[in-house]
Amino acid sequence: MTRNVRAGLVAIATALLAAGCATSLKEPANIEFSKRELRQYVASGQYMKEILMVATEAKAWIEQRAAHRVPGERLALVMDLDETLLFNWPEIQAADFAYDPVRWNAWVESAAAHPGEPVREIYEVARNDAVEIFFITGRRERYRDATAKNLQRIQCSDSATLICRPADSQGTAAAFKTAARKQLVQEGHVIIANVGDQLSDLSGGFAERTFKLPDPFYFAE
Ligand SMILES: [Mg+2]
Repeated sequence: MTRNVRAGLVAIATALLAAGCATSLKEPANIEFSKRELRQYVASGQYMKEILMVATEAKAWIEQRAAHRVPGERLALVMDLDETLLFNWPEIQAADFAYDPVRWNAWVESAAAHPGEPVREIYEVARNDAVEIFFITGRRERYRDATAKNLQRIQCSDSATLICRPADSQGTAAAFKTAARKQLVQEGHVIIANVGDQLSDLSGGFAERTFKLPDPFYFAE
């Protein structure tokens, strides 16, 4: 074997080995890059911009639907709270995207979440159009007082009913929320819009229209 042929064979073997390694690895993207991307999404203003886009559609629909109210119709708006009306970004960022129940519950008790202004405007539009407002939250009953206090602080407690998840409620958030909307409909409410950040807020029906806000930070079933 000449020196050139040997060198050629070594090069081919090296290339094959490298290709083999590259195709056999299933390494997902490094989590640090995902975290950076999320921080940038918020810091750049893109997150709030996209919230504004969805909220603008929701407000327009509520105004239009309320203007065509059939006399006697009890129109209702359903909204989620966390990452819908209440923004927990300071805590999410401080916790480095980890869910630590002790930390999270202390944050909820602090009643310090700020509203996303475009989402607060959905609440205002509904209130001005005599649409009843129901906050259906996965927060448990034991956090009712802290949550109500937070809603008062951001001036979103008038004309609104807070529906928390009972302590003994089992199963998914989607099942709890669907049952809560079904109950409202059975009581005679017409839910014209349902606004939330998770698909589990919006699946299951019992709303004329749903509005999905962005939330790349966590997932609730
Ligand atoms: Mg939420």
